[in-house]
Amino acid sequence: MMNLSALVHSLRSSLLHIESRLLQVVLLDRQLAPALAVTGPSLLPQPDREEDLEESQEQPPGLLDSILWMAAPKKRRTIEINRTRRRAEEKLLKVKTNIEPCPECGHMKQKHIMCGFCYAKVCRETALIRQQMKAMEGSPHGAPSVETVVLYEGETPSQQDKDKRIVERSRKRPAWFSY
Ligand SMILES: [Zn+2]
Repeated sequence: MMNLSALVHSLRSSLLHIESRLLQVVLLDRQLAPALAVTGPSLLPQPDREEDLEESQEQPPGLLDSILWMAAPKKRRTIEINRTRRRAEEKLLKVKTNIEPCPECGHMKQKHIMCGFCYAKVCRETALIRQQMKAMEGSPHGAPSVETVVLYEGETPSQQDKDKRIVERSRKRPAWFSY
């Protein structure tokens, strides 16, 4: 037991000796500064004040001068001023005057834009037709090479549609769904 503690003590003293010798060799007589910036300016080597002042008068613009400083508000703006800015006339939504009722369904719509309600109606009907076609085909490779005709209740295929694939819908033809 005594032997071990003596060994540790001798190792420690020799390590300390090596460390001091190394510091002498590298000429690091100053205190070592940390690698990362910490709030401890006393740890770092301090240049003399007078030298620093002389240098600042002579030196060209340094690194900090080239950094783009972001603008930061100096005073708080009141809520009245903020609201006046936010509710300025150019920020308000423009009043639309090009609105008219849809000639088909009567919903209001913009003049140059297709009626959304009518469009949704057509989408629903065509989706049903597509479902029916998919069921007839059975598989993705079962599509016939001929055209498809959609027939509604009470309709018969015309002479030129005889050879085409016929999808029959069990309802009357809507007025908006042309033949
Ligand atoms: Zn419409």
